[in-house]
Amino acid sequence: MVRYNEAIIDEVKVNNDILDIISQYVILKRSGRNFLGLCPFHKEKTPSFSVSPDKQIFHCFGCGVGGDVITFICKIENVNYREAIQILAEKAGITLPVSDNTQDMKKEMLKQKVYEINEIVANFYHENLYKPSAKEAQEYVKKRKLDNNTLKKFMIGYSNRNK
Ligand SMILES: [Zn+2]
Repeated sequence: MVRYNEAIIDEVKVNNDILDIISQYVILKRSGRNFLGLCPFHKEKTPSFSVSPDKQIFHCFGCGVGGDVITFICKIENVNYREAIQILAEKAGITLPVSDNTQDMKKEMLKQKVYEINEIVANFYHENLYKPSAKEAQEYVKKRKLDNNTLKKFMIGYSNRNK
């Protein structure tokens, strides 16, 4: 489950002006510092749905709904908070992180590194086995009747402790 952190949520909010967004759904008329329109969430004939561009919030004095631009999208599109963020991010051209769990990402990168190091080390010892200095190991391998294919397949290596 992807959870968006506060920085991302803020970015989405900053880039989606509540007046612009609500205007796409409700006809709004300026009324002092605020904008008024017919509430999309309840039936009414006189506008009691108010949008405050200054505070970036909306409120309906008729049915009591209110909130920020994300809440509005949740209600009007009938989606959950996460989906609302995705809708707004798309509108603003913001790319959301696939996973914002940096702890998991760090672990995954470390794991990848360990695998890489492991492979480098295995390669090193494997190549070591074919060096003239590995005479002892080569004789042992011969004695065990390990052919070259087996050596390669299992990356059999040799570590010369004296050097
Ligand atoms: Zn209302």
